Amino acid sequence: MSRFLNESLSQLVPYTPGEQPRGMDKLIKLNTNENPFPPAPAVRGVLDGTSIDDLRRYNDPSCKGLVEAMAKAYGLRVEETFVANGSDEILALIMMAHCEGGVAFADITYGFYGVLTDLFAIPKEIVPLREDYTINVMDYQHITTPIFIANPNAPTGIPIPLSHIEVLLQQNSNRLVVVDEAYVDFGAESALPLIEQYDNLLVTGTFSKSRSLAGARLGYALGNEQLIADLNRVKYSFHPYNVNTLTQRIGVAALEDVDYFNRCCQQVMATRQTTVERLEKLGCQVLPSCANFIFVNGVKVSGKDYYKKLRDANILVRYFDANRLRDFVRVSIGTAEEMDKFLAVTAEILK
Ligand SMILES: *Cc1c(COP(=O)(O)O)cnc(C)c1O
Repeated sequence: MSRFLNESLSQLVPYTPGEQPRGMDKLIKLNTNENPFPPAPAVRGVLDGTSIDDLRRYNDPSCKGLVEAMAKAYGLRVEETFVANGSDEILALIMMAHCEGGVAFADITYGFYGVLTDLFAIPKEIVPLREDYTINVMDYQHITTPIFIANPNAPTGIPIPLSHIEVLLQQNSNRLVVVDEAYVDFGAESALPLIEQYDNLLVTGTFSKSRSLAGARLGYALGNEQLIADLNRVKYSFHPYNVNTLTQRIGVAALEDVDYFNRCCQQVMATRQTTVERLEKLGCQVLPSCANFIFVNGVKVSGKDYYKKLRDANILVRYFDANRLRDFVRVSIGTAEEMDKFLAVTAEILK
């Protein structure tokens, strides 16, 4: 770091993204929860139909067409809908808009929450999960700052029932609850139906996982009109042109193809189920996942060794060298063929 870096940032530990290796030909990449299927076919048409002049001009900062398509797809009003450059940006905007007094989140959850609180010097309260990695909502009763809940949680994949989200919302109507639904389309219950009833609920999501558009960078927030107005206030003070022209059009095309979306999600869930069954037959423990990844304890092998041995066999998964996570590896659900290979290598490792 240079001698010019802000003092407050000298201790910051930035987020470590999963590897994106080049020359991936022989590598099976199950480390960043990307979707194994391509984006909706109509996305191709958007790329083909984009002229070079479309890039010369600034993009629409209001993202009108996309926000309208979002509102239609999710049965909300345009004023209840917000989009940004990935949901990581949404999380940052929420931190800037609503969290100067502090935030609370689980000890085991999406690592970016803690990075953002450190970046913005926001006080944080860490609430431990139960022994079985589930959330006890009663542990949040006393908290008055905004709460961030990933549903399903990362990196465990464990979902939280909608009734528990509702308890959190009711504990204190003056406390914001942010539900990060990055993986909700793979079988968990969305908090969307509660938006009309609770003005302290903000739901976030992303096109990176269930819509196969990680590289397009598109995230969204859904909530009552005032909360969305807050996010626009910060956005127009920070990065008004945050969603580029191509991504705005691609997002609309992806939203319109409901059948394709449903089929991809169904396929990922079916592959997840057979993968879990086969891992359990091999003696592994797998946490109950509603996401497009599973958190696997090889039991006979440490998380680190399991990770390394998979890597030696050209299979990339994610390992977290942290308390309560060391016994596991996180494995994204790929195609059926990729999972066959992963299972065959796992069987070898555990022999
Ligand atoms: C992947 C992920 C995000 C970020 O998604 P982007 O839209 O790609 O920035 C947010 N929250 C969780 C829990 C995630 O896993």
